[in-house]
Amino acid sequence: MVGSVIHRVAVIGAGMAGLVCARQLADAGRRVVVFDKSGDIGGRLATRRRDGLWWNHGAPAVHVRSREFLALLESLERRGSATAIPGEAVARFVGRPDMRELLRPLVEDLDCRFGCPVALLAPGSDGWRVALHQDEAAEPAFDAVVVAIPAPQAAALLAASGLPLPDGMEAVRMSPCWTLLTAHGDRQPGLRQLGQSEAIERSTVTDLGPDGPTTCVLHAPAAWSASRLEQDADAVALALYAVLSAVCPADLPAPDYLAAHRWRYARASAPLGQDCVWLPDLGIGLAGDWCPGGDAEGACLSGRALARRILQA
Ligand SMILES: Cc1cc2nc3c(=O)[nH]c(=O)nc-3n(C[C@H](O)[C@H](O)[C@H](O)COP(=O)(O)OP(=O)(O)OC[C@H]3O[C@@H](n4cnc5c(N)ncnc54)[C@H](O)[C@@H]3O)c2cc1C
Repeated sequence: MVGSVIHRVAVIGAGMAGLVCARQLADAGRRVVVFDKSGDIGGRLATRRRDGLWWNHGAPAVHVRSREFLALLESLERRGSATAIPGEAVARFVGRPDMRELLRPLVEDLDCRFGCPVALLAPGSDGWRVALHQDEAAEPAFDAVVVAIPAPQAAALLAASGLPLPDGMEAVRMSPCWTLLTAHGDRQPGLRQLGQSEAIERSTVTDLGPDGPTTCVLHAPAAWSASRLEQDADAVALALYAVLSAVCPADLPAPDYLAAHRWRYARASAPLGQDCVWLPDLGIGLAGDWCPGGDAEGACLSGRALARRILQA
């Protein structure tokens, strides 16, 4: 499948792993096209916006343990899209103004195609075609394909394309997370002093102005989320809001906004234990947090490792 030089690369997934990989390949002169099924960059570094309000309902921040990831975040900070949270034992950064913007500088000059759910990778005499539907093969052809999406979705894409699963991939596990998104028109100091509940793992409160509005995101633990995975989102929103009201030390007025979002594949609970996967005979690579583990930092290091493998190929 692969000729002597890999020049044209399709990257599927515009999250941390896909964009870091795409940036490195484009900087090395490769022709890169990024496909994502959603309407913007970020993946699980996600932000929902409604009527001037916003919520970081995926990762509320990224944790930094390695020098390599720190160097990337400091460069993003210099470019105005990241801010370090002061006084933390493990360094953490947030996107500025929101988590999705953390990755914005990486996509400058990249050919990104949104609203493109890739359903099939089809081999042709001139390379891989990336198809959005089973019966369609999109132009152009690519020498290599980077699959930078959560492991279960990557496995489904490989299976639909008649490709074998890499060794160890069937043992990868990703845990779910239900999140609650609320908004109140004015400040609610009680939201910053929540009591404990088995339904709450973390909460993030954001004041969008000096007197409000205030938005709040609750993350439910993996076990709580797994046991309610197929429930209706409105029912989960009401259940989590009842918990929030019960553990808030002050009475909460009715919220102006209330919704729940399900992350079916939030975090890698049993990762592959490899920095990435590169199948040189096929010209297909896989990257993401689920390869090495380690959340957003793992996704970044995985995308970088795969780009290096492709550039060496
Ligand atoms: C609730 C929650 C809390 C978290 N908390 C933290 C935290 O505190 N600290 C931390 O460091 N990390 C945290 N994380 C994890 C972090 O967000 C992820 O590790 C990281 O963003 C994963 O990046 P990725 O590029 O591997 O995958 P993703 O961000 O999932 O990107 C994959 C992209 O692929 C796209 N896609 C999927 N299938 C297809 C397809 N068939 N065709 C086209 N596009 C497709 C998706 O739309 C998505 O944009 C959290 C995540 C969640 C959900």
